[in-house]
Amino acid sequence: MAIAENRSRSEWQELDRQHYLHPFTDHKDLGEKRSRIITRAEGVYIYDADGNKILDGMSGLWCVNTGYGREELIAAATNQLRELPYYNSFFQCAHPPSIELSRILCEVTPPHFNRVFYAGSGSESIDTMIRMVWRYWDLVDQPERKIIIARKNAYHGSTVAGASLSGMEPMHQQGGILGNIAHIDQPYWFGSDRSMSEDDFGVHTARALERKIEELGADKVAAFVAEPIQGAGGVIIPPSTYWPEIQRICNEHGILLVTDEVICGFGRLGAWFGADYYGVKPDLMTFAKGVTSGYLPLGGVMVGDRVGDVLIDKGGEFYHGYTYSGHPATCAVAIETVNILQREKLIERVRDDIGPYLQKKWATLREHPIVGETRMVGLMGALELVRDNRSLERFDGDSKAGVVCRNFLVNNGLVMRAVGDTIITAPPFTLSHDEADELIEKAWKCLDLTQKALSKGS
Ligand SMILES: *Cc1c(COP(=O)(O)O)cnc(C)c1O
Repeated sequence: MAIAENRSRSEWQELDRQHYLHPFTDHKDLGEKRSRIITRAEGVYIYDADGNKILDGMSGLWCVNTGYGREELIAAATNQLRELPYYNSFFQCAHPPSIELSRILCEVTPPHFNRVFYAGSGSESIDTMIRMVWRYWDLVDQPERKIIIARKNAYHGSTVAGASLSGMEPMHQQGGILGNIAHIDQPYWFGSDRSMSEDDFGVHTARALERKIEELGADKVAAFVAEPIQGAGGVIIPPSTYWPEIQRICNEHGILLVTDEVICGFGRLGAWFGADYYGVKPDLMTFAKGVTSGYLPLGGVMVGDRVGDVLIDKGGEFYHGYTYSGHPATCAVAIETVNILQREKLIERVRDDIGPYLQKKWATLREHPIVGETRMVGLMGALELVRDNRSLERFDGDSKAGVVCRNFLVNNGLVMRAVGDTIITAPPFTLSHDEADELIEKAWKCLDLTQKALSKGS
């Protein structure tokens, strides 16, 4: 019997309230309300304990890219658990699933990626990346290169290192940040005063990296890390001038370029990786989420030859690794996820079919009176809520327009997320055209409801 059937919805809610501390949650606030209990899922829909059917416009947390209820992934995990549920890769051991996945990952990543290091999550992969960057500069006798530059409003996870590297003020306020980390502005054109053209703004914000390097001293800077498109920060799509300028600056100053591909990787943008989409050549890429379609937790770092060759040629133990580095069952699920992406040509589908289809419909939401901008690459999009879609005047913070809209959405059977007054979406790659139409219809309806609710309030 499924665990969900053991108790009633209200029993689940009560036990949840008593014992379960949720991530990124105000527990006092949640205790006064009740959690929505999700009991099962199929395709692009989740179902709650009241039997509501909800279109998952976020793919869980940007991860269930191949959709729910995939028998192939379930079989891959089950078969591997039966064969070898666990063994470590310490002490000169390895097992077929982790070796096979390594081979496959080096095949689907750009040609200069020939090695991989496994972690259990995106946050852990960020920690691994930082330690590997420092190890690299030690090995090439430039140990004073320690500073890692990231961006404001970036999200790189929630461990001590991940929260420090992330550029989120509220996280920094709870415990401060580690040393040797610096932040520069993000390429968020709509959020700027828009006095520059988007192209000029892209170059200008990229040059913030150069200004920061000059301020800190190039001989002190180890790496720059960025999401190809910022996800949790509100799907911030950089102007097309941004990434080429970042690449030039990293090359000129010799600093390592790291793309955090935890969301963009494995097809979200209609290319295997964000680096492919933007034509940049990172030295390291962190990944997690979509690599297993979220069915089991796995993360890791793709290691380019510049770093990988040094790690190996110079020798010496890298004192780093996790009990679950290369866990056999998670690797088996990742292998099958890549198989599905290839077999069903899902990345091509995002690039040529459902991506363009949803993008075109998404753009029509710009006509709604409270939408000031829409944007989407692949299946990763955002819209900006504004008081007036001509003047682009924003709602004041107290109106909580984003949260109001998000609540209407979920109560009307569609999950999208609010980041301030930005509404974001990232549906599964398997979304059908009909389901895309449903997403747009529900979004429009909830924009109407939001507009009505907010005009009543003011
Ligand atoms: C989600 C996310 C992380 C953190 O991953 P976890 O698995 O939650 O630790 C890191 N980087 C990016 C870009 C993410 O979106």
